[in-house]
Amino acid sequence: MTIDQYNFNGKKAIVRVDFNVPLDENGHITDDTRIRGALPTLKKILSDGGSLIIMSHMGKPKGKVNPKMSLSQIKDTVSKYLGTEVKFADDCAKASELASALKPGEVLLLENLRFHPEEEGKPVGIDKEDPAYDAAKKEMKERQKEFAKTLASYADVYVNDAFGTAHRRHASTAVIADYFDADHKMLGYLMEKEVKAVDNILSDIKRPFTAIMGGSKVSTKIGIIENLMDKVDNLILCGGMTYTFAKALGGNVGKSICEEDKLQLALDIIEKAKQKGVNLVLGTDCVAADDFSNDANTMIVSSMEIPAEWEGLDAGPETRKSFANAIKGAKTILWNGPAGVFEFDNFTAGSRAIADAIVEATENGAFSLVGGGDSVACVNKFGVADKVSYVSTGGGALLEAIEGKVLPGIAAIRG
Ligand code: AMP
Repeated sequence: MTIDQYNFNGKKAIVRVDFNVPLDENGHITDDTRIRGALPTLKKILSDGGSLIIMSHMGKPKGKVNPKMSLSQIKDTVSKYLGTEVKFADDCAKASELASALKPGEVLLLENLRFHPEEEGKPVGIDKEDPAYDAAKKEMKERQKEFAKTLASYADVYVNDAFGTAHRRHASTAVIADYFDADHKMLGYLMEKEVKAVDNILSDIKRPFTAIMGGSKVSTKIGIIENLMDKVDNLILCGGMTYTFAKALGGNVGKSICEEDKLQLALDIIEKAKQKGVNLVLGTDCVAADDFSNDANTMIVSSMEIPAEWEGLDAGPETRKSFANAIKGAKTILWNGPAGVFEFDNFTAGSRAIADAIVEATENGAFSLVGGGDSVACVNKFGVADKVSYVSTGGGALLEAIEGKVLPGIAAIRG
């Protein structure tokens, strides 16, 4: 079933969204992108004449009630965007009455799902090494099913529009789908768009394909790097990873971030790229700083010759040019992870050069996908989010999908 095929008139829909929005210390939303992202789905249900039960997680309360992560803080913003009052259930597992009283056009927001450990389905307060762990895990899985069944009992139809958590088999993202038949469960519009963007990258590759992987470490990106090696023509590895490669190649990296236990892995990646004919583009020069701060003194040096007390915090001018060259001619582009410590204004040049080149390639007809919290923050910071083909809301979910893994949240609906 697709959301466009379904008529919600007179039906109650329970919708999993990702309203895990950043809040300031006073509980005010600092970026409501995620709320706006789910609006097409929510509005379709209401305009069909359905009633809406919205569920989400916020933060990591680890199975306990934590007022700082209460979704009551975002209720008014959701009301404002939907143009109607939103009711609130302050325990998502005890919302039967409120749900059954909902009339067409009415909206109920459930409290943070993760206030219940059953949502994630992981046993709490017991170590993995503990001999009793397996039994505790089994018991929690049973409780997770019950919890999912309770959520399912509120509604006639289930919609999953939370791509950011689609790689998790949680009660609200996957297990709940077992309680609806194929005609009463579907992906929301945002989810459909995300899946299509991933398909564009995986199946309909127009060449050359350039992937840009940045961020702090090789170790967290190794799965996707290895997988991309079979698909891309150019692979740019940037950000903190640069220095693990430089060190592996015999360079001096000073105080730069460097994973000493991944030096061999770096050499293996270089070798594999050669074997596969992939043009691996690494930083050759960098902006080195004498302190990890925006106001540090800086100098441009070779990434292989960083003085002992200095650290590479951004890509240098020569590197920026070679990155841009590998991006500008591309017809398919994937970007995950910044090329420097872009949070500091003085170390944004590398990421900015990447963003500018992606915008230029997109203007020339390339399909460009930007995903992962920090690269999305970059395109927002540089004001170019609407000049790339698609900005994904998923970090981990996007990378797992591109690695070719089946996402539980999508499999639970599509089978
Ligand atoms: P990740 O979470 O692995 O995608 O990494 C994102 C983080 O990497 C951002 O917070 C950046 O500030 C950081 N980063 C990028 N380049 C460097 C660098 N050269 N040194 C230290 N951190 C970096």
